Amino acid sequence: MRGPDVPPRPLDARALAALAANPGCRRRALLDGAGVDKAALARALGTPAAFGQSQFAIARGNAFEARVKADGGTELVRLLHAALPAGQAPEPPDAVDAPDLSAAGPEGRTARTALALREATAAGRWALLDHPMLALTVAGTPAYLEPDAVVVHPDGTWTVVEIKSFAMIDGAADAAKAGAAARQAAVYALALETVAERLPGPAPEDGRVRHEALLVCPKDFSNLPAAALLDLRKQRATTRRQLGRLTRVEEIAAALPPGASFAPDRPAAELTAAVEAVDAAYAPDCLAACELAFHCRDRARAEGDVRHLGRNVRSGLGGLTTVEAALAAARGDHPSDAAELPSDASDRPSHAAEPPDGPEDPAVAALRRAAALRAEALAAAGFPKEEADACR
Ligand code: SF4
Repeated sequence: MRGPDVPPRPLDARALAALAANPGCRRRALLDGAGVDKAALARALGTPAAFGQSQFAIARGNAFEARVKADGGTELVRLLHAALPAGQAPEPPDAVDAPDLSAAGPEGRTARTALALREATAAGRWALLDHPMLALTVAGTPAYLEPDAVVVHPDGTWTVVEIKSFAMIDGAADAAKAGAAARQAAVYALALETVAERLPGPAPEDGRVRHEALLVCPKDFSNLPAAALLDLRKQRATTRRQLGRLTRVEEIAAALPPGASFAPDRPAAELTAAVEAVDAAYAPDCLAACELAFHCRDRARAEGDVRHLGRNVRSGLGGLTTVEAALAAARGDHPSDAAELPSDASDRPSHAAEPPDGPEDPAVAALRRAAALRAEALAAAGFPKEEADACR
């Protein structure tokens, strides 16, 4: 599907976190599962997206991470120890274990990581696994994930470490960026759980994989590291549930027309037909999470699907699923097409299954009231009556 000469784009934690945030999007699930380069596809469709980190930001992030780990991980483990509640773990020594994780290919590196985790846990000492490789099967597709680091505690528990280049000012990081980091860390934690399940012997009471990840960022715009714990409990539960809801990519692919291809060298019209053959669930959040956002937004707007206006508007409109239906309700017309466009029941508000039937529907009543108030305001402002009435 991605083209005979196109290498697969590996799924990473950022992509899995985005999938978990929008599990109703079969389009993204299929394209990510098939390893399609969505940025190249968006360009070929004529809707390129300025998406992802700049080369400068990537280089800055790599330089900061190298600096944080320059002493073999001792400073990183100290930061973790300092962030933990007092007395929860023994002081780290002057040097921590740092097992060699090199191996051939992602499968080899995953096996080497699992062995290193087992040995470090059995040793009962602080250890830092630098860029371990973890595997997680999502919607029938294996994904290989590479967290910045995993720390093994002397009590046999494991902490995911995320090193980011955005600043932590006065001990607090930007909430949106910290939230994105937590979603990625939750994906790593789920992958670590699959390793923990295969470990012999009883697990610690609260689980082998700790509920908090360590976020390390530059301190107050300096090059010095600052660290804080990120609570992953909610993110882990949500991500586990959402990834479990994803339709298997084989099922989605089976519904494609024969010969459908997403190879970026195909004509734009052919690519558009292939992309449109798979249901999407566009929401404004896609703009920050998916390379196809501009294409899907254009389509959602053209179809009048209210989902492109955001979750709040969508849930506020209840069973009114199109802009046309909402306008008809505001005018007092019968919203005959209100139940159209239910392309994905899982992405709809719970009360959306039943079409609204008239002014007793709360969404319809609110729209009519809003339209009446607007018309009154326009009339009071001196707009001609016909124009004000036309707004109703
Ligand atoms: S931009 Fe399109 S393909 Fe990407 S997640 Fe949103 S709806 Fe799905």
